[in-house]
Amino acid sequence: MKTEQSHLFYQSRQPRPFLDYGEGIYLYDVSGKRYIDGSSGAMVSNIGHSNPNVLAKMKAQMDRATFGYRLHFRTEPSEKLAAKVAGLMPEGLDRVFFVSGGSEAVETAIKLARQYAVTQGQGSRWKVISRMPSYHGATMGSLGVTGSPLFTGAFAPMFEEMPKIPAPTCYLDRDNLSEEQRGIKYAEMLREKILAEGPDSVLAFLMEPVGGASTGALVAPDSYYARVAEICREYGVLLIYDEVMTGAGRTGKFLAAEHWGITPDIVAMSKGFGAGYAPLGAVVARNDMVEALLDSGGFQHGFTYAGNPLACAAGLAVLEEMEEHDIIGNAARMGDVLKARLTGLMERYPFIGDVRGKGLLLAFELVSDRETMAVLPKDWNAHVELVELAYERGLIIYSRRTRGGKEGDHFLVCPPLIVTEAQIDEIMEILCDALDAFAEKHAL
Ligand code: PLP
Repeated sequence: MKTEQSHLFYQSRQPRPFLDYGEGIYLYDVSGKRYIDGSSGAMVSNIGHSNPNVLAKMKAQMDRATFGYRLHFRTEPSEKLAAKVAGLMPEGLDRVFFVSGGSEAVETAIKLARQYAVTQGQGSRWKVISRMPSYHGATMGSLGVTGSPLFTGAFAPMFEEMPKIPAPTCYLDRDNLSEEQRGIKYAEMLREKILAEGPDSVLAFLMEPVGGASTGALVAPDSYYARVAEICREYGVLLIYDEVMTGAGRTGKFLAAEHWGITPDIVAMSKGFGAGYAPLGAVVARNDMVEALLDSGGFQHGFTYAGNPLACAAGLAVLEEMEEHDIIGNAARMGDVLKARLTGLMERYPFIGDVRGKGLLLAFELVSDRETMAVLPKDWNAHVELVELAYERGLIIYSRRTRGGKEGDHFLVCPPLIVTEAQIDEIMEILCDALDAFAEKHAL
């Protein structure tokens, strides 16, 4: 089917060509045009496209069984993948629950926290504090409209907007504090919020260790992570790391949490975990939390496709590929190279205000004044325009107009973790060409 008319109603900024095939970091449309997948789709395709080893292992599983309902059968791929994931986690986090995507992973993490609190006689705790801005998924609470106390009992109230604290956007601060002091300042906002809400009502704090599309690869000062964990412990608030984007190697470690030696109570992963080969995610939780749930009748939760053997075979093959080729090590090394190259652009383009990120979760932000970090005029629509200039030239990058709860144009440059230095040269060449065209159009 190659007609222009589409019956799909996804949000789309621009008409897009039909995708033909992918290979490594490249994608080809049906006209034969080549694109560098400079954002790994939506920070998903961590091991690149059409990896033959992964496809072969998926095919082998397809020939055996593509579905076996988890209440009827255990399956080898899901058991093996769970064991592998548990082995990659920090000590103490070794119970795994599979899902099909990031939103499901986040919902699962929150429900797990909530039901666990109930088993501990802490049913008054239901608020989940998160950050502004942040992104944790797109579902609106399907449980809130589910008419069955069996499924809803432990989780009410639902459909409430939860309390937020500011994300640590230190790069916008113009104070005399050191980086370390700024980290503490933002972490202490969590304490203030817990106290304002009433500690007995606060269930969990949910955060992306390195921001994704909402903040543009925002990394907090080191002091932030330890202080947040301390505050959570002090008030009995569970710490949930949303590693949907950062997990599975994107930041140069399997979990971003490892950079700061943090062991959260619950971790949610997806995106690079299935790496685009299958819709797959996982929630990993403390053993004792899961035991407490199992002792009191089990986790009242589950999705039809959870632990699907084909998805798990794909996930297992992805992790094996990562291990065999030290793909996470490559992410750390190439992340340093790409970040240095992006930072170098600030000399050539005064309208780049900031470059940030970790591993291959990297972003740059455009401004009209680097000193004040004033944003570009909204009607330039820079976050769309620069993406299109790059797309025309065969480079896919990812953008959002949001920062610190307000507006600002940032661009994520997050190629697959298999990217080579020569391919980074190619990315930079096209990116500079697009930035030149942008500068010329706006006389910057
Ligand atoms: N959490 C984070 C940090 C994300 O970046 C995303 C997606 O971008 C999600 C959750 C939701 O994932 P999904 O779109 O797979 O439901």
